[in-house]
Amino acid sequence: MQNTKPHAALLASPGMGHLIPIVELGKRLVTYHGFHVTIFVVATDVSATQSLLRQQCPNLNIIKLPLVDIPGLIDSTATIVTKLAVMMRETLPSLRSAILALKSPPTALIVDVFGTEAFAVAEELNMLKYVFDTSNAWFLAITIYVPTIDKNVEDKHIIQKQPLRIPGCKSVRFDDTLEAYLDRNDQTYIEYKRIGIEMPMADGILVNTWEDLEPSTLGALRDSQMLGRVAKVPVYPIGPLSRPVGPSVTRNQVLNWLDMQRNESVIYVSFGSGGTLSSDQMTELAWGLELSKQRFVWVVRPPIDNDASGTFFNLEDGSQEAQSFLPKGFLARTSEVGLVIPMWAPQVEILAHPSVGGFLSHCGWNSTLESITNGVPMIAWPLYAEQKMNATLLTEELGVAVQPKTSASECVVARAEIEMMVRRIMEDEDGFEIRKTAKELKYSGEKALSSKGGSSYNSLSQIANDCELSLLFRKAKAQG
Ligand code: UDP
Repeated sequence: MQNTKPHAALLASPGMGHLIPIVELGKRLVTYHGFHVTIFVVATDVSATQSLLRQQCPNLNIIKLPLVDIPGLIDSTATIVTKLAVMMRETLPSLRSAILALKSPPTALIVDVFGTEAFAVAEELNMLKYVFDTSNAWFLAITIYVPTIDKNVEDKHIIQKQPLRIPGCKSVRFDDTLEAYLDRNDQTYIEYKRIGIEMPMADGILVNTWEDLEPSTLGALRDSQMLGRVAKVPVYPIGPLSRPVGPSVTRNQVLNWLDMQRNESVIYVSFGSGGTLSSDQMTELAWGLELSKQRFVWVVRPPIDNDASGTFFNLEDGSQEAQSFLPKGFLARTSEVGLVIPMWAPQVEILAHPSVGGFLSHCGWNSTLESITNGVPMIAWPLYAEQKMNATLLTEELGVAVQPKTSASECVVARAEIEMMVRRIMEDEDGFEIRKTAKELKYSGEKALSSKGGSSYNSLSQIANDCELSLLFRKAKAQG
């Protein structure tokens, strides 16, 4: 490998929601900005990860780091955030050895939010260090702002349940706040706060949004009178980075079925890589879909009560037959109008299909971007993490989604409400309006990524310049 090009080492924490945007970032750095890229992957869901990585561009050097056996280190009831934080902490020695073993030393380390402790490795090895927040700017704002607020302000939000005012940004309602902030004695809270403190220690913060999507929040993050004082370092919106439809996608059962449906007549239902419903909610959703009389593609997972993120670390186990947990006769009654896919579906290809006209989604940020970049309106059904904030952003700020009145993360959304929402998005005027807005956002996202001066393209160019300067500096130093 020549070392005339900057070399970026990217670190992806477990979860497709982290891996997918990291891989997309790697591809853009290689394709448009002349980088060598090595991606270090810590993966738990082996088969989904492998199939994703097989489709990637050959210029990415992908190295899987050994998976840490956390059951011995942590209570099985710990939250995803705590588990991810512990896993990533325990991975640091193997990351360090793997970086040292590379033929060409990387110029920069780019981690996702669960990798900020690796900044110590970057410093030791004289690399620039960046954090890539794979979510939106509003979530970035709360993450870095919370560690700076005093106890009184925090009490008002967490105990008195008042909205949290964030300078220059939309306030965060108590109902939307991250679960991580609710129990200050839990390790999740400690880990989140630590991440919020460490992010501004980077040389720059990348975020998967774009200037025209969140102009005021991005403005506040840069304004030294507002959040700029907390962010401290440049914030680079580089999105929307979402996985494109593969050029050689094999036609499979879902796509063949979609080919036979009318334009924009099918609602796609999926809850990301971890989302899991309770048995009661699964029953209501099945009935709601059936009663709506709309066509659907539904990715189902065995229900788990009281664990909305139940499949996050366990996507492999799809052995339970869908008919054992869906209402009796549902599959037979809906066989003409619906398709039930166990565990995992080719989501991007589905959302890009012209027959798909709506998406009932848990509002993970990748799913959200995939919907927006395909102009598909959404039913926002947030379950955990920052998804409630995303749902509010989508419904109240961006106008590309509707949301149930009942909070899906607190109680069971009844079949009548589901039926009504599905019809609203698929049949009513509402759906058309929202689709129009989603299409406008799709074009604005494309513009941001354009290599002809798009704002997100320019952001990555600035990072590339900094890396090139650092490389030159390093070489000059080596030559004395
Ligand atoms: N995904 C997929 N097939 C599925 C479920 C999810 O391809 O059946 C992909 C989806 O396209 C997205 C990612 O997995 O890119 C999930 O990321 P997101 O941020 O939406 O949610 P998370 O899984 O992190 O909650």
